[in-house]
Amino acid sequence: MNFIPLHTFRFVLLCFVFSLNTVQSEIIEITEIDKVREYVEKGTIFLFDVDDTLIDLPCVHLGGPAWKEWAEINLDTTHVNFDLSDAISLYLAKKLPYKPVEKTTTKLIRELQEQNITVLGYTARGRNLWCLMHVRGVDEFTHSQLQNVGIDFTDSKIPEEFSCILDPSYFYKGIFYSARIPKGDLLRQLFLQHSFFPKRIVFIDDRLAQVESVDAALTELGIPVVSVWYRFTALEQENFNPIAANVQLSALLFEDQFIKDESAEKEAELLKGTIPERHLNRIVSEFGKNKFLPFNLN
Ligand SMILES: [Mg+2]
Repeated sequence: MNFIPLHTFRFVLLCFVFSLNTVQSEIIEITEIDKVREYVEKGTIFLFDVDDTLIDLPCVHLGGPAWKEWAEINLDTTHVNFDLSDAISLYLAKKLPYKPVEKTTTKLIRELQEQNITVLGYTARGRNLWCLMHVRGVDEFTHSQLQNVGIDFTDSKIPEEFSCILDPSYFYKGIFYSARIPKGDLLRQLFLQHSFFPKRIVFIDDRLAQVESVDAALTELGIPVVSVWYRFTALEQENFNPIAANVQLSALLFEDQFIKDESAEKEAELLKGTIPERHLNRIVSEFGKNKFLPFNLN
């Protein structure tokens, strides 16, 4: 009889354990939100990121993730003692009505709630924090932004045993607020603090770093997790046009008008050859940087 040498056995065992871990921490990539229906199972808790997963601005160019990244690098912040790009993003959020990211988003959330699935929001905003700025009432503002598109997490059924982790520092009306703490770190902290370990979590976010953070934390705690990286917005943002964004920003600031993407793109054609970074700073300076203050939601 042939025996397998001990070191070979150890190696095979390690490979097996490693492959188990790999299966557990697989990140699923989707481009349509309806795909998450495949992961509905009794006792599962669904956690949906808010910005660019459930709701976003009614335009691709102005105020989206690509614009934020571009504006942050290019905005002239001399003589400004606040975060100008965050302040503009708050200004846009107050001015422009958010919409569901996809036409099917609202229906999906409502149908999960009707099936008695626990479905909650999980945002990187804070209860009183917008990006890195302290702003009172971000929680109520977020709740009403979602309500305006027909999503209301207060309608979700929450099992009794889950209520122990709904710490009011981080939870309000069906939504967790991680307040810039990596989402996985906050979940780890809440679950360990209350020694509560749910049967299974499905987490959906458009930011890969957040998906990886939740996936790692829950895998570490031995909580089964389906980690979903939602890429609808990222694909849409590949069409980001900074000149069209300037057209939209200028119309909003000086004429109080919202120009749709298509019209902005046509106007942008006529402005080809302008330097968008310079144009952005001219628009913001002419409007007056301090007019993006104060940070409030009234
Ligand atoms: Mg997001």
